[in-house]
Amino acid sequence: LRDLPGDPEAGPRVREVFAAWSRVDPTPVADPRLLAWSPEAAALVGLGAEDVADPDFARVCGGNALLEGMQPWAANYGGHQFGSWAGQLGDGRAISLGEAIAADGRRWELQLKGAGRTPYSRFADGRAVLRSSIREFLCSEAMHHLGIPTTRALSLVGTGEEVVRDMFYDGHPRPEPGAVVCRMAPSFLRFGSWQLPASRGDTALLRQLTDHVQRHHFPDLHGLGPAGDAEWFAQVCERTAEMVAGWMRVGFVHGVMNTDNMSILGLTIDYGPYGWLEDYDPGWTPNTTDAQGRRYRYGTQPQVAYWNLTRLAQALAPLFGEAAPLEAGLQRFLDAWARAEREMVAGKLGLARAGADDVALFEDLRTVLQAGQFDLTAFFRRLGEGDPAADDAGGFAAVSYDADAFASATAALSDWLARYAARLADDPLTAEQRRERMRLANPRYVPRNWLAQEAIDQAEAGNLAPLSNLLEVMRRPYEDQPGRDHYAGLRPGWARDRAGCSMLSCSS
Ligand code: AMP
Ligand code: MG
Ligand code: MG
Repeated sequence: LRDLPGDPEAGPRVREVFAAWSRVDPTPVADPRLLAWSPEAAALVGLGAEDVADPDFARVCGGNALLEGMQPWAANYGGHQFGSWAGQLGDGRAISLGEAIAADGRRWELQLKGAGRTPYSRFADGRAVLRSSIREFLCSEAMHHLGIPTTRALSLVGTGEEVVRDMFYDGHPRPEPGAVVCRMAPSFLRFGSWQLPASRGDTALLRQLTDHVQRHHFPDLHGLGPAGDAEWFAQVCERTAEMVAGWMRVGFVHGVMNTDNMSILGLTIDYGPYGWLEDYDPGWTPNTTDAQGRRYRYGTQPQVAYWNLTRLAQALAPLFGEAAPLEAGLQRFLDAWARAEREMVAGKLGLARAGADDVALFEDLRTVLQAGQFDLTAFFRRLGEGDPAADDAGGFAAVSYDADAFASATAALSDWLARYAARLADDPLTAEQRRERMRLANPRYVPRNWLAQEAIDQAEAGNLAPLSNLLEVMRRPYEDQPGRDHYAGLRPGWARDRAGCSMLSCSS
């Protein structure tokens, strides 16, 4: 264990760096305390409860000390933000400690988010508030348990320091407690990691980066030349399609699908102003910063993912002599998306397989869901528990947010239920098999923004029990957990307009 010097002013402040990364140490915090940790993430790197209880764990995960062999760095990357090229961005507050190679040979990059300034911090402080750190910690692990590719979260450490953001109280900025999340992923490289060298005409770095990621993360494709490169890009496209299909299935809205927030491994990355669809509305975005453009709405996520892949393709163009392999890769996105969408429809409706007619049936249900202001998660769980042949639209009143909207949609819902029952009569699955298939595709629990906010409010007041309870529930999102109806409930009235419960800003 090596202690880091405590001077908060220390650290380089270079504005432009012509490299893929910069060597930089975390800036120690006043009082690192472990607030939460994930046993499943810890197990991936061979850590258990005793290791985590050691005060050195909080010191390393808070950025106050390094373990033998750690040589921390911040990555350099660029990106398109809200549709425009933003130039160099880089890890302004994320510092990677190193890679742990697990007993099974898998690599896990350990990265502290909120660990202090880096050469890429520009004018910001390199820190993160407890509020946003809880949201990242919680949602990373919930996403994993939901079965959707994601970066992981090992720990949440309170810093004992205050951070000032855009929360105002009596017209004055209100200081908030700071925190550091230790994230884990095989790699945190993003589309923007390729876009930056491409924008600078640095084809040698582009090649090096591509070789590096293939060698470690796509070993079957490494060293195969142009054919390997083409297949690699196509696989990135496929993984991205599958990730977004997972988001659509559970009602997750990322909120900031900038190309610097798109993982080259197809992992959900950078949990900021994300949200969970409650009353169904494909036009909803949780991100107040995007309120005007509404670029990153629930319903636009597949198109935005595709657009982002076209930016990546453009960055990779110097590695390919021709456009055809890149176009073929983009086509793999479209094919994978079509496949994944059908699989999603089959799962959510409990069909053995879904065809084009079933996708159309599902689209019609979307119209009903929106008109009736139905809660996406609760509606599908209810649908899966019923007997569609006998189900009456009235039985769905409890999963709507608005009695008038419900009344206006009742006839359409009845019609739809009748079509659905007729379709099921044609399906090879038994009623029991259908229910099980639906149970595994339609979670009972998702980390709704207001649930996270309850945990945040309590954690800020020093009570960590609600956070740990919520994490516990999210470990088994598809199981009915007796006594935990609160976590499956529709958004309560108090949360409708409360900051943090539906709308969030990028600043955190
Ligand atoms: P994001 O919107 O969270 O993906 O961040 C966009 C860029 O701003 C990235 O380069 C971040 O590293 C940087 N950034 C965000 N917050 C901070 C902060 N508090 N300090 C330094 N850099 C930041
Ligand atoms: Mg980011
Ligand atoms: Mg962010």
